[in-house]
Amino acid sequence: METRVLLVEHPIEQSLFAEAGTALANGRIVAFPTETVYGLGASAYLPASVREIFRLKGRPSDNPLIVHLLSADDLEGVVSSVPPAFRVLYDAFSPGPLTYVMPRGERIPPEVSAGLPTVAVRFPSQPAARALIAAAGVPVVAPSANVSGRPSPTRARHVLDDFAGRIPWVIDDGPCEVGLESTVIDLTSDPIRILRPGVVTAEAILMKTGIEVVSWKDTATEEEMERPPAPGMKYRHYAPKAEVHIVLPEKDRSFAGSFLEAIRDSEARTGVFFSESTWNELRKYAETLPPALDVYTYEGERDLTRAARFLFDAMRTLDERGVEHIYAEGFEGDEAAAYMDRLTHAAGAADDRIPEAGTEPGASGGLILFICEGNTCRSPMAEALFNDRFGGTIWRAASAGLSTVPGWPVSDQTLQALREFGIEAEGKVSKPVDLSMLKEAKLVVTMTTGQRERLREAAPAFSEKIISMADISAHARDIADPFGEGMASYRRVRDQINESLEDLFSLLQQR
Ligand code: AMP
Ligand code: MG
Repeated sequence: METRVLLVEHPIEQSLFAEAGTALANGRIVAFPTETVYGLGASAYLPASVREIFRLKGRPSDNPLIVHLLSADDLEGVVSSVPPAFRVLYDAFSPGPLTYVMPRGERIPPEVSAGLPTVAVRFPSQPAARALIAAAGVPVVAPSANVSGRPSPTRARHVLDDFAGRIPWVIDDGPCEVGLESTVIDLTSDPIRILRPGVVTAEAILMKTGIEVVSWKDTATEEEMERPPAPGMKYRHYAPKAEVHIVLPEKDRSFAGSFLEAIRDSEARTGVFFSESTWNELRKYAETLPPALDVYTYEGERDLTRAARFLFDAMRTLDERGVEHIYAEGFEGDEAAAYMDRLTHAAGAADDRIPEAGTEPGASGGLILFICEGNTCRSPMAEALFNDRFGGTIWRAASAGLSTVPGWPVSDQTLQALREFGIEAEGKVSKPVDLSMLKEAKLVVTMTTGQRERLREAAPAFSEKIISMADISAHARDIADPFGEGMASYRRVRDQINESLEDLFSLLQQR
């Protein structure tokens, strides 16, 4: 599929959006900028398009989408009732980066909110987003336009990095103003709760409206801690491949001094993210800085608003340059809550009450063994996708073949399909499955039910831990062999596997 990029000119001409708007209303996927991040848009009225969004992103099926509207006049059918506080909050903060969770209306299919009786609604202020929604004439669901787990996109280029050739349209209107996802508040609870921090803070809400809202964590039961009311909060997010470290200001030391202390002994390739002024200070110590230092700065003095705007671009850019560590500037204070939330998630050390992938209670971790025939296409793909998303010291995936010989390299198309997701799998070679692997594995996952049966027959002692991809969830299916076919088949295999990974991971937690 060719991806068309629509470059927005200012002042905005509504007619420029006619074609993309019609495409959106007719079920196509259109990525577009908002003031927060770029969104992957689909008509909220079309369940098939909504499902396509989950598939494209590899988004867990229990993570609901936000519906984007032009104004409160469009709420009819989208919500079934409007809670009393809505109007005051709307007048104070909309259009803008605040999302309201309300009772779901009859025109919104359950797919949108992952079956929840509520729906999240937002009114973006970004002019191109508004022109597109107006042209479409329908409510638009739009999660961040990134493959699940990666840093959110704040430029059209980021969207293309993840989705070029996979979606028909991208609207390009330059970098996003805010750079962090919206604040999500739950209007169905008393008190109103912030489900996800964003630039609209509890303090700002209190100051402007007199309404007191609380962070969901402050009132959460133990059960909610394990199953956050904004389901998206339970997953590891915003994560570049490099290891992220946060540098905070310290007493009796300049900020550049704290950075110098943090990075001076780093031997691996190191990236830093901070303001130009910090870099001007730090570069004076050139001779004590690590030799392979990659520097990403934003203009001017140290500033929270600008750091937020550039954070995700910095992570993606430094990742592309191949750094192994990213040292990013931290901020203190209430207004920095959203920035620090994203950064601590990226560092994999989010609030320790939010389980990081693989660390939920009962998750003892171990080896997941993926099985196909030759161990050169499907199972290495599953291994690489799993390790990219969940692999670490707790869970780790490996793969092997039912009918193969040792030493075949992973197929070129498999490498290419993985590379499009930013994953490098070069160098891995095939292995026939053997008893010691089956013994070590926590769970063995075959690509087809036929393979599951053959393996169970060959190793009945391990039957219980041998499942097939189709067993993972209700919508999962056998993964067909792409061998000898074109790239489209390899991408389909990749996307099918990717789509089931979150469910597989949930399954691992339960076992
Ligand atoms: P994203 O679209 O990627 O910015 O993610 C949307 C966020 O809003 C996720 O964290 C969701 O869990 C949250 N969200 C969306 N709809 C609801 C809802 N009905 N109830 C609670 N949280 C929601
Ligand atoms: Mg997102």
